[in-house]
Amino acid sequence: MVEIFQDLISYGHEQVAFFHDKDTGLKAIVGIHSTVLGPALGGCRMWNYASESEAVRDVLRLSRGMTYKAAVAGLRLGGGKAVIIGDARTEKSEAMLLAFGRCVESLGGRYITAEDVGMSVQDIDVMRTQTQFAVGGSNEGGSGDPSVMTAFGVFQGMKAAVKAAGLGEDLNGMKVAIQGVGHVGYHLASYLSAAGAQLIVTDIYPNQIERVVEEFGAEVVSADDIYGVQCDVFAPCALGAVLNSRTVATLKCKVIAGSANNQLENESDGFELMRRGIVYAPDYAINSGGLINVAAELDGYNKELVLGKVSQVYTTINNILQLSRQENIPPHVAADRMAEQRLKEKKSRGDRMPVKA
Ligand code: NAD
Repeated sequence: MVEIFQDLISYGHEQVAFFHDKDTGLKAIVGIHSTVLGPALGGCRMWNYASESEAVRDVLRLSRGMTYKAAVAGLRLGGGKAVIIGDARTEKSEAMLLAFGRCVESLGGRYITAEDVGMSVQDIDVMRTQTQFAVGGSNEGGSGDPSVMTAFGVFQGMKAAVKAAGLGEDLNGMKVAIQGVGHVGYHLASYLSAAGAQLIVTDIYPNQIERVVEEFGAEVVSADDIYGVQCDVFAPCALGAVLNSRTVATLKCKVIAGSANNQLENESDGFELMRRGIVYAPDYAINSGGLINVAAELDGYNKELVLGKVSQVYTTINNILQLSRQENIPPHVAADRMAEQRLKEKKSRGDRMPVKA
């Protein structure tokens, strides 16, 4: 017997919807963790999961993460995510995307989909022919590539973290080590270079490195050496779980502020950073610029307004780090507390309306 409710209870989900389309082979799961603050927005990931339970666990984990991210960013959105089981390179078809669009539409606006791993802007365009509840397409009024806004948010959050670490607020002359100079890392390097920071970078692709060396005069280190670099700020912009029992001990930075998701391998790594006096800007709070950007489509996209909202990441990180100091708790715990407090306040006001189209 499948014990799905136990998982829903432990993650705190409102709803998990399973969809199957016989004609296209679509197998999709939509996780709606919370609609307390608004419709559950989150990307759709297509991945060749080893098992169905792995797919369920991923959608539960990712959709809960979106609730916290939206809450801490001050958005009127809940947390949701979708996964499609299959290899995006060989099994994705237009018919399947159309079928998925119809699934999303059938949820009546409780879930709003967007791009994630294995999905493209063009795929969102296809879905949008079947549902009004998809954002991040190439349509007029679309929000475009989110990585510029994500980088802008990280840049703002980094300033707040640097200040909290007692290094002043000016990034001019600051040494910043960036791990991964892909979409976000490149734009972050650009903002930092303009602010007068000295850049040390690594990537596994030489062409990515060449760009930032040529354009911003960055110094290069090997992928393994980035952790031990003598610097003020370490900016993880590549992979998750990079802050772990092997790396934290080798860090020589005073601040960690980067875009990567799920940077802490374990909760204990956040406590160890605090013990070592390294100021950590929690990942889902500092990298919320992309979500703020795509969510802006729902109110009619306006780039100037979005820039203003994303610059608020400074205040968000500042508030989190203040709470962390006051309560003597690591920043990642403080961020969770702030998100939970916002959800609690909204619930206690008793003004919740059912989220629907
Ligand atoms: P990307 O794939 O464009 O860039 C990642 C870069 O990291 C690539 O250049 C890759 O070669 C490099 N890389 C991979 N493994 C590496 C390693 N071991 N050492 C050094 N470099 C390595 O991805 P992105 O869109 O720039 O996103 C970067 C991170 O930020 C991801 O964790 C992503 O989940 C997160 N994020 C991105 C956005 C966004 O708007 N794109 C929003 C929120 C969070």
